[in-house]
Amino acid sequence: MAASARVAIVTGAARGIGAATAVRLAREGFAVAVCDLDEAACAGTVRAVEENGGRALAVGVDVADAGLVKAAVARVAAELGPPLVLVNNAGILRDNLLFKMSEDDWDAVMSVHLRGAFLMSRAAQAHMTEAGWGRIVNLSSVSALGNRGQANYSAAKAGLQGFTKTLAIELGRFGVTANAIAPGFIATEMTAATATRVGADFEEFKRAAARQIPVRRVGVPEDIAGVVAFLVSDDASFVSGQVLYVAGGPRA
Ligand code: NAP
Repeated sequence: MAASARVAIVTGAARGIGAATAVRLAREGFAVAVCDLDEAACAGTVRAVEENGGRALAVGVDVADAGLVKAAVARVAAELGPPLVLVNNAGILRDNLLFKMSEDDWDAVMSVHLRGAFLMSRAAQAHMTEAGWGRIVNLSSVSALGNRGQANYSAAKAGLQGFTKTLAIELGRFGVTANAIAPGFIATEMTAATATRVGADFEEFKRAAARQIPVRRVGVPEDIAGVVAFLVSDDASFVSGQVLYVAGGPRA
């Protein structure tokens, strides 16, 4: 199948890692559904794809809402073609130490990361199994290994690793692979918000983080987008159920 015929869905693609991934996959020849909570917020990513000669569709969807997910995937299939690549990237933080963490903090993080990846994968896999080819990439995190103040987020990101391995086992016979990427510190609005929350200047926050990272720099969204591009390529057809730490070192 020619790469130009393939359609990719990237969630949380209005900015950050998702936006960079959408642009990179378009450069690889995919038509890209740029999905995020607010459809209007996707305009910048769609423009960036089109400026690079690619094709993109903005889709407003809350990945935690089963009805909206079903409708969004159906719309992508109707307007772009059957989605054969899914990048579950949408994410939120609700950091707090355990004794201060509310049920809402817990539920919100579980809903977006875990329920969202489940709903999107369940809807998209129908197209992949029918085509006999598909790729699912889930965004985990080094926080899956444990991180102070992130009981909810680390549990969700570790959960995504088990989810990924199970998808690999169930879907492999249909030509569908599933892998997870576990980024370390990537400079985005998410990490900028963390700096603000702890009262730090973002530039100093990044310099301090870089000193702890073996390659002595923080990551940029394109560092993750490049790894997604590999995992969805035909070169990676024998790579499935893996968790790739992309953190400038063994863990950051
Ligand atoms: P980001 O800049 O905060 O972007 C996340 C995007 O997801 C936002 O546009 C956000 O929309 C969207 N989103 C949130 N809830 C959603 C929902 N229910 N449905 C659809 N879209 C939703 O984050 P990022 O840093 O690029 O991170 C992307 C992914 O990588 C996340 O899963 C994150 O956990 C993971 N990750 C990031 C880092 C890092 O250092 N940055 C490290 C490890 C893993 P709104 O703006 O409307 O909320």
